[in-house]
Amino acid sequence: MEVTHEHEDGPMADLTTLAKNELETLRSELQQTFDEKKAQGLALDMTRGKPCSEQLDLSNDLLANLDKNEFSSPGGVDCRNYGGLDGLPEMKQIFADLLGVAPEQVVVGGNSSLAMMQNAVSCAMSHGVPGSAKPWGKEEKVTFLCPVPGYDRHFTICSHAGIDMIAVPTDENGPDMDKVESLVKDDATIKGIWIVPKYANPTGNTCSDETVDRLAGMKTAAPDFRILWDNAYAVHHLTDSPDQLKNLYDACAAAGHSDRALMFCSFSKVTFAGAGVSAVAASDANVEWVKSHLFVQTIGPDKVNQLRHIKFFKNFAGVEAHMKKHAGILKPKFDAVLAILDEELSGKGVATWTTPRGGYFISLDVMHGCAKAVVARAADAGVKLTKAGATFPRGEDPSDCNIRLAPTFPSTDDVLAATRVVALCIQLVAVEKLLAG
Ligand code: PMP
Repeated sequence: MEVTHEHEDGPMADLTTLAKNELETLRSELQQTFDEKKAQGLALDMTRGKPCSEQLDLSNDLLANLDKNEFSSPGGVDCRNYGGLDGLPEMKQIFADLLGVAPEQVVVGGNSSLAMMQNAVSCAMSHGVPGSAKPWGKEEKVTFLCPVPGYDRHFTICSHAGIDMIAVPTDENGPDMDKVESLVKDDATIKGIWIVPKYANPTGNTCSDETVDRLAGMKTAAPDFRILWDNAYAVHHLTDSPDQLKNLYDACAAAGHSDRALMFCSFSKVTFAGAGVSAVAASDANVEWVKSHLFVQTIGPDKVNQLRHIKFFKNFAGVEAHMKKHAGILKPKFDAVLAILDEELSGKGVATWTTPRGGYFISLDVMHGCAKAVVARAADAGVKLTKAGATFPRGEDPSDCNIRLAPTFPSTDDVLAATRVVALCIQLVAVEKLLAG
């Protein structure tokens, strides 16, 4: 986690060093400001990572670019009809380029990569995966490693499937690999790990090359161990010098574990969230496994939507150009949050936060034991934040310190106003805690 910088006017008073009477004075000043804010009747929402309407507008031509007589794909497939279980070749090519694999390794899904992930876990539980001695659900216990802070929906998939979760800390290089390696080497119940490898939800961090190599090469007691590589933010850069993520599939193949990687992505935050296209990429054996289950579920995917996307982007270069437009909309919002946090909190010893180079979130750590109180205070002043604890399995943040900020959906003005309230609440709750001893 990146540590806050000093304020440009010089270091600010570290609240943790103030005397009791200074804290009391500060508390009444902060409370007064809080009351004034509350009286404004704000109604701001920084809960979920949704694209804003300006971002969605970038893709409106998706709806316009299917001429009523043109339902054939470039390769001549009539997209109105059944068939093409694993996706149109042109769609597979775009995802293959995005994920750095061959098109044969891609299976195109429906509108949601989360659904593909849930399906993979569910099929593993009911049938096992290539290399399983039996269905995971027939094992006495199945455990997943969950790097934290992480994505709440991954944890929900585990809870829903009856999979135990072990939280593993993360830093700017990804999960703590010493911990991961030591856990997976002896415990055969550990069948998988969730990773958002690039611009992670919520830290914004990207796995280092060393992390990728260690994940690919590590010895696992479970022969059918899987890395659920949720590359949801693969192309969601906020800078002109994108983070480079080492190719997990290649690293796994080089280490002799080519079946270990299941790599997911989608266009939910590229075109329309809810009407995009998703994909999974994996080894030949895993692709056959995915297709064998898909075959039971559907006679064919929504190729009309795939065709819209193919016509809209043409190729992966089209996706990359499109994402630059998203960055132009999102960068000012992230900058707004970071500027206010810096202005209001730097040097005060009450919070640290990440400075993402991409993705949809900023991860904020407040004083231990304060996150729930900060979120409650902010709600009282009309600013909704993601529930404290949501970034941990079972919603339990043992230190009660992590808060996820999602600045993409509100306007920049609202993001500024909301972040000021958050910064105020962080100080107020910290002062109260310090006074309570
Ligand atoms: N993975 C991560 C890490 C996400 O943040 C999100 C969206 N919040 C998703 C998956 C959901 O993706 P989809 O819309 O493709 O289901």
